[in-house]
Amino acid sequence: MRQLKNVGANTHPYTGKSEKIMMELGRQTDREDHFLKTDVAVYFGKPGEEVSDPCFDGKGPSRTGCVLCGGCMLGCRYNSKNTLDKNYLFLAQGLGAEIIAEQEVTDVKPLDQEGKNGYEITYKSTFSPFGKKTKVKAKAVVFAGGVLGTMSLLLKLKNNSLNRLSSTLGLGVRTNSESLIGVTSFDKKANFSEGIAIGSILEIDENRHLEPVKYPEGSGFWRLFMAPMVSSNHAVGRLAGMVVDLITHPVKNLKALFIDDWSKRTQILLYMESIDSTLRFASPFWGGLSSKMEKGKAPSAYNPIAQELAKTTEAIVNGKAMVLNTETLLGIPTTAHILGGACMGKNESEGVIDDKNRVFNYKNMWICDGSMISANIGVNPSLTITALSERAMSFVPDKNSKP
Ligand SMILES: Cc1cc2nc3c(=O)[nH]c(=O)nc-3n(C[C@H](O)[C@H](O)[C@H](O)COP(=O)(O)OP(=O)(O)OC[C@H]3O[C@@H](n4cnc5c(N)ncnc54)[C@H](O)[C@@H]3O)c2cc1C
Ligand code: SF4
Repeated sequence: MRQLKNVGANTHPYTGKSEKIMMELGRQTDREDHFLKTDVAVYFGKPGEEVSDPCFDGKGPSRTGCVLCGGCMLGCRYNSKNTLDKNYLFLAQGLGAEIIAEQEVTDVKPLDQEGKNGYEITYKSTFSPFGKKTKVKAKAVVFAGGVLGTMSLLLKLKNNSLNRLSSTLGLGVRTNSESLIGVTSFDKKANFSEGIAIGSILEIDENRHLEPVKYPEGSGFWRLFMAPMVSSNHAVGRLAGMVVDLITHPVKNLKALFIDDWSKRTQILLYMESIDSTLRFASPFWGGLSSKMEKGKAPSAYNPIAQELAKTTEAIVNGKAMVLNTETLLGIPTTAHILGGACMGKNESEGVIDDKNRVFNYKNMWICDGSMISANIGVNPSLTITALSERAMSFVPDKNSKP
């Protein structure tokens, strides 16, 4: 990962309350040797001090030392985190790329059967969806709309402009089978907001990881969506579990709901598994995306291992574990790590792209986003997506090179 050219990743230097909880969880589960600080794309100079580009040999923008406010999930307000506008987009602009922001691509038409002569791309403003559509011509196209964006567009285009796309399009969609559990501490001194959003990771076993996630002070909107954590896969069991929890722990439930600063007092646990199951996405005639199970066990909102870790954390922080009410009431699992749908293969009957991310049956067309990932990597996927995209682009000849 450290070889990535344009990310600017470091191991972060801070050990806060969340990291200590992970170490204690590691100790109690005999996994203390499997605790790691995370590598993150954040500038850790003198807190709050702006310096000229410390990451990209002077070619990047100025940066400000991280103040450890815990706000990375919501976007860094301090110019410390390397978001795309501070690395790839900034560097591309410096090389002459024009960035046309806030536009949605709605069509990509090859100018001949295989796109040898290029493509016509249609886009419209995301702010005025009924406004004018703009068309441009391009020699090459890279799809990078994320799984939901790229799948919505390509599954629609497979029925018209791009009908030579592989019939495996939409297959192999997966998540990290995550569980997201918030443990609210009743200790008035508890402050889980200090530090970067995800500062450490604990490997539970070879297929499972746990990360402490934080939100900055005052970002407690999520509390409105929390419900008691219950141990059942069935609707009746979940509802019964919720009623029992509310009756047996009324004070704890009320305290967790009305705690003074929810995000400061709540440690979010992000649990991930690399055990695989896949969905198939399709493009229904009414628009958007539909999904159904393709292979393996359906992802579930109830995970006994994640719940056991949350109960241990409750004891460590003197707190109460809660989950999103869509999990308790409806049994719908939550994911922030959706992957697949345009997977790699040896040929078009195995995948949508080859091992250099080139789309089968089209010239000068690549897919470089989460939809290219052909396995459940079991951890947060951004760096894997970035590494594979950099690799794919490294095979594209330089514009000045001789054929
Ligand atoms: C709350 C949250 C926290 C996360 N935290 C982490 C983390 O700490 N570490 C980690 O590794 N991963 C994290 N992830 C996952 C990570 O953000 C994603 O896996 C990653 O961003 C996916 O990259 P991508 O390039 O596939 O797509 P995206 O980053 O989603 O980029 C796709 C872009 O394309 C645009 N787009 C879509 N369709 C179109 C279209 N038709 N025309 C034009 N533009 C379009 C979208 O608006 C978007 O800007 C998190 C995800 C969430 C939701
Ligand atoms: S903790 Fe995150 S949001 Fe806060 S300054 Fe550091 S990088 Fe930015």
